[in-house]
Amino acid sequence: MGTVAAKRGDPESPIETPTDASILPVRAGRARMEVHHVTADADTFTCNGFLVTGECPTLVDPGAMDGVVDVIRDHVDDLEAVALTHQHGDHVAQLEAVVEAFGPTLEVYAYDHHQTRTQALADGDEIEIGDDSFEVVYTPGHADDHVSFVSETTLFSGDVVVHNDGAFEYGSFGRTDMAGQSRETLIESIERLLERLPDGVEHLYAGHGDVFHGDVRDVIQTALERAEKREPKYPDP
Ligand SMILES: [Zn+2]
Repeated sequence: MGTVAAKRGDPESPIETPTDASILPVRAGRARMEVHHVTADADTFTCNGFLVTGECPTLVDPGAMDGVVDVIRDHVDDLEAVALTHQHGDHVAQLEAVVEAFGPTLEVYAYDHHQTRTQALADGDEIEIGDDSFEVVYTPGHADDHVSFVSETTLFSGDVVVHNDGAFEYGSFGRTDMAGQSRETLIESIERLLERLPDGVEHLYAGHGDVFHGDVRDVIQTALERAEKREPKYPDP
Protein backbone atom coordinates (compact mmCIF):
# COMPACT_ATOMS: atom_id res chain seq x y z
CA MET A 1 0.00 0.00 0.00
CA GLY A 2 1.46 3.25 -1.05
CA THR A 3 0.71 6.57 0.44
CA VAL A 4 -1.44 8.74 -1.71
CA ALA A 5 0.39 11.93 -2.42
CA ALA A 6 -1.38 14.99 -1.18
CA LYS A 7 -2.91 17.05 -3.89
CA ARG A 8 -0.81 20.09 -4.57
CA GLY A 9 -2.44 23.18 -3.32
CA ASP A 10 -4.95 21.32 -1.17
CA PRO A 11 -5.21 23.47 1.94
CA GLU A 12 -6.69 20.55 3.88
CA SER A 13 -3.68 18.35 3.27
CA PRO A 14 -2.37 17.04 6.60
CA ILE A 15 1.16 17.30 5.21
CA GLU A 16 0.78 21.02 4.95
CA THR A 17 -1.07 21.65 8.17
CA PRO A 18 1.04 23.83 10.44
CA THR A 19 1.60 22.32 13.86
CA ASP A 20 3.10 25.40 15.41
CA ALA A 21 0.71 28.22 16.23
CA SER A 22 3.36 30.77 15.28
CA ILE A 23 3.46 29.48 11.71
CA LEU A 24 1.52 31.73 9.45
CA PRO A 25 0.76 30.12 6.12
CA VAL A 26 1.38 32.48 3.28
CA ARG A 27 0.54 30.31 0.35
CA ALA A 28 -0.84 26.83 -0.18
CA GLY A 29 0.76 24.49 -2.67
CA ARG A 30 4.35 23.49 -3.52
CA ALA A 31 7.02 23.84 -0.82
CA ARG A 32 5.09 26.25 1.23
CA MET A 33 6.63 29.40 2.44
CA GLU A 34 5.92 30.14 6.07
CA VAL A 35 6.58 33.22 8.13
CA HIS A 36 7.72 32.89 11.73
CA HIS A 37 7.73 35.81 14.10
CA VAL A 38 11.11 35.08 15.69
CA THR A 39 11.14 37.95 18.20
CA ALA A 40 7.68 37.24 19.59
CA ASP A 41 9.01 36.30 23.05
CA ALA A 42 11.26 39.33 23.51
CA ASP A 43 11.16 41.23 26.77
CA THR A 44 13.51 43.91 25.46
CA PHE A 45 12.45 46.54 22.95
CA THR A 46 12.82 45.14 19.46
CA CYS A 47 11.19 45.31 16.10
CA ASN A 48 9.38 42.26 14.79
CA GLY A 49 11.87 39.91 13.17
CA PHE A 50 10.37 37.56 10.56
CA LEU A 51 11.93 34.33 9.37
CA VAL A 52 10.55 33.27 6.00
CA THR A 53 11.08 29.59 5.19
CA GLY A 54 10.90 27.95 1.76
CA GLU A 55 13.33 27.77 -1.15
CA CYS A 56 15.25 30.78 0.05
CA PRO A 57 15.13 31.00 3.86
CA THR A 58 15.38 34.67 4.64
CA LEU A 59 15.27 36.77 7.77
CA VAL A 60 13.54 40.11 7.39
CA ASP A 61 15.08 42.31 10.12
CA PRO A 62 17.10 40.55 12.83
CA GLY A 63 15.71 42.78 15.59
CA ALA A 64 17.27 43.27 18.99
CA MET A 65 16.30 40.19 21.00
CA ASP A 66 19.15 38.22 22.57
CA GLY A 67 18.86 34.60 21.48
CA VAL A 68 17.14 35.25 18.17
CA VAL A 69 19.75 32.99 16.52
CA ASP A 70 18.47 30.05 18.60
CA VAL A 71 14.89 30.75 17.60
CA ILE A 72 15.92 30.82 13.93
CA ARG A 73 17.75 27.50 14.38
CA ASP A 74 14.58 25.94 15.79
CA HIS A 75 13.09 26.38 12.32
CA VAL A 76 15.92 26.16 9.76
CA ASP A 77 19.44 24.74 9.50
CA ASP A 78 20.54 27.28 6.97
CA LEU A 79 19.72 30.86 6.29
CA GLU A 80 20.32 32.23 2.80
CA ALA A 81 19.79 35.90 3.39
CA VAL A 82 18.96 38.72 5.72
CA ALA A 83 16.93 41.59 4.29
CA LEU A 84 16.92 44.88 6.22
CA THR A 85 14.03 47.31 6.02
CA HIS A 86 16.25 49.96 7.65
CA GLN A 87 19.05 50.20 10.16
CA HIS A 88 17.54 51.63 13.33
CA GLY A 89 18.96 49.87 16.39
CA ASP A 90 15.82 47.93 17.23
CA HIS A 91 16.02 46.36 13.74
CA VAL A 92 19.73 45.53 13.46
CA ALA A 93 21.13 45.02 16.98
CA GLN A 94 21.33 41.25 16.39
CA LEU A 95 22.56 41.44 12.79
CA GLU A 96 26.18 40.64 13.56
CA ALA A 97 25.18 37.69 15.76
CA VAL A 98 23.08 36.32 12.89
CA VAL A 99 25.89 36.81 10.37
CA GLU A 100 28.33 35.07 12.70
CA ALA A 101 25.96 32.15 13.25
CA PHE A 102 25.00 31.50 9.63
CA GLY A 103 28.35 31.95 8.05
CA PRO A 104 30.17 33.56 5.18
CA THR A 105 27.71 32.61 2.43
CA LEU A 106 24.89 34.57 4.04
CA GLU A 107 23.65 37.42 1.87
CA VAL A 108 22.87 40.67 3.64
CA TYR A 109 20.63 43.00 1.63
CA ALA A 110 20.48 46.61 2.76
CA TYR A 111 19.88 49.99 1.18
CA ASP A 112 22.61 51.81 3.11
CA HIS A 113 26.13 50.71 3.83
CA HIS A 114 26.63 48.29 6.69
CA GLN A 115 29.83 46.40 7.40
CA THR A 116 28.00 43.09 6.91
CA ARG A 117 26.17 44.11 3.74
CA THR A 118 26.84 41.93 0.68
CA GLN A 119 24.29 43.44 -1.70
CA ALA A 120 23.06 47.00 -1.95
CA LEU A 121 19.34 47.42 -2.54
CA ALA A 122 17.84 50.04 -4.82
CA ASP A 123 14.27 50.96 -5.62
CA GLY A 124 12.84 48.50 -8.14
CA ASP A 125 15.23 45.63 -7.37
CA GLU A 126 13.81 42.12 -7.08
CA ILE A 127 14.91 39.78 -4.31
CA GLU A 128 13.88 36.25 -3.41
CA ILE A 129 12.36 35.79 0.03
CA GLY A 130 11.10 32.33 0.89
CA ASP A 131 9.40 31.08 -2.27
CA ASP A 132 8.46 34.42 -3.76
CA SER A 133 9.99 37.29 -5.62
CA PHE A 134 9.66 40.62 -3.85
CA GLU A 135 10.06 44.06 -5.32
CA VAL A 136 12.10 46.56 -3.33
CA VAL A 137 10.20 49.82 -2.84
CA TYR A 138 12.16 52.77 -1.46
CA THR A 139 10.09 54.22 1.38
CA PRO A 140 11.99 56.95 3.30
CA GLY A 141 10.52 59.40 5.82
CA HIS A 142 10.82 57.39 9.03
CA ALA A 143 14.41 56.55 8.03
CA ASP A 144 16.45 57.69 5.02
CA ASP A 145 17.46 54.13 4.19
CA HIS A 146 14.01 52.57 4.50
CA VAL A 147 12.77 50.01 1.98
CA SER A 148 9.71 47.78 1.88
CA PHE A 149 9.39 44.38 0.20
CA VAL A 150 6.29 43.64 -1.90
CA SER A 151 5.20 40.40 -3.56
CA GLU A 152 1.91 39.35 -5.20
CA THR A 153 0.58 38.28 -1.80
CA THR A 154 2.70 39.79 0.92
CA LEU A 155 4.13 43.08 2.17
CA PHE A 156 7.01 43.52 4.59
CA SER A 157 6.55 47.17 5.45
CA GLY A 158 9.10 47.79 8.21
CA ASP A 159 8.12 50.97 10.04
CA VAL A 160 6.42 52.78 7.17
CA VAL A 161 2.97 51.30 7.65
CA VAL A 162 2.01 49.12 10.58
CA HIS A 163 -1.27 47.40 11.33
CA ASN A 164 -1.51 48.65 14.91
CA ASP A 165 0.59 50.32 17.59
CA GLY A 166 0.15 52.58 20.60
CA ALA A 167 -1.21 55.38 18.41
CA PHE A 168 -3.69 53.71 16.05
CA GLU A 169 -5.49 50.46 15.32
CA TYR A 170 -5.89 49.25 11.71
CA GLY A 171 -3.51 51.51 9.85
CA SER A 172 -0.70 53.29 11.64
CA PHE A 173 2.60 54.66 10.37
CA GLY A 174 6.16 55.22 11.53
CA ARG A 175 7.11 58.15 13.71
CA THR A 176 8.66 61.13 11.99
CA ASP A 177 9.33 63.49 14.91
CA MET A 178 13.02 62.72 15.41
CA ALA A 179 16.11 64.17 13.76
CA GLY A 180 16.37 63.36 10.08
CA GLN A 181 12.76 62.21 9.76
CA SER A 182 10.04 63.79 7.62
CA ARG A 183 6.29 63.34 7.64
CA GLU A 184 6.03 64.78 4.11
CA THR A 185 8.53 62.23 2.83
CA LEU A 186 6.73 59.45 4.68
CA ILE A 187 3.42 60.45 3.07
CA GLU A 188 5.06 60.23 -0.38
CA SER A 189 6.45 56.83 0.55
CA ILE A 190 3.06 55.49 1.59
CA GLU A 191 1.61 56.77 -1.71
CA ARG A 192 4.43 55.03 -3.57
CA LEU A 193 3.69 51.80 -1.72
CA LEU A 194 0.03 51.99 -2.75
CA GLU A 195 1.03 52.58 -6.39
CA ARG A 196 3.34 49.60 -6.42
CA LEU A 197 1.15 47.23 -4.40
CA PRO A 198 -0.40 44.52 -6.58
CA ASP A 199 -4.11 43.89 -6.12
CA GLY A 200 -4.81 41.05 -3.74
CA VAL A 201 -1.99 41.46 -1.22
CA GLU A 202 -3.35 39.75 1.87
CA HIS A 203 -0.48 39.55 4.36
CA LEU A 204 1.11 42.48 6.14
CA TYR A 205 4.24 41.92 8.22
CA ALA A 206 5.25 45.21 9.78
CA GLY A 207 8.17 46.13 12.00
CA HIS A 208 5.96 46.63 15.04
CA GLY A 209 2.49 45.63 16.17
CA ASP A 210 0.54 42.61 15.01
CA VAL A 211 0.63 40.69 11.77
CA PHE A 212 -2.42 41.40 9.60
CA HIS A 213 -4.21 39.12 7.16
CA GLY A 214 -6.89 40.65 4.97
CA ASP A 215 -7.24 43.70 2.77
CA VAL A 216 -3.74 45.16 3.10
CA ARG A 217 -4.47 47.99 0.67
CA ASP A 218 -7.26 49.21 2.93
CA VAL A 219 -4.94 49.25 5.95
CA ILE A 220 -2.36 51.27 4.02
CA GLN A 221 -5.03 53.66 2.74
CA THR A 222 -6.19 54.22 6.33
CA ALA A 223 -2.61 54.85 7.47
CA LEU A 224 -2.18 57.35 4.63
CA GLU A 225 -5.32 59.26 5.58
CA ARG A 226 -4.10 59.50 9.19
CA ALA A 227 -0.58 60.55 8.20
CA GLU A 228 -2.01 63.20 5.84
CA LYS A 229 -3.69 64.98 8.77
CA ARG A 230 -0.15 66.07 9.64
CA GLU A 231 -0.98 65.90 13.33
CA PRO A 232 1.61 64.61 15.77
CA LYS A 233 1.45 60.82 15.96
CA TYR A 234 1.99 60.99 19.71
CA PRO A 235 0.43 64.24 20.97
CA ASP A 236 2.16 65.81 23.96
CA PRO A 237 0.41 64.77 27.17
ZN1 LIG B 1 12.70 52.48 12.81
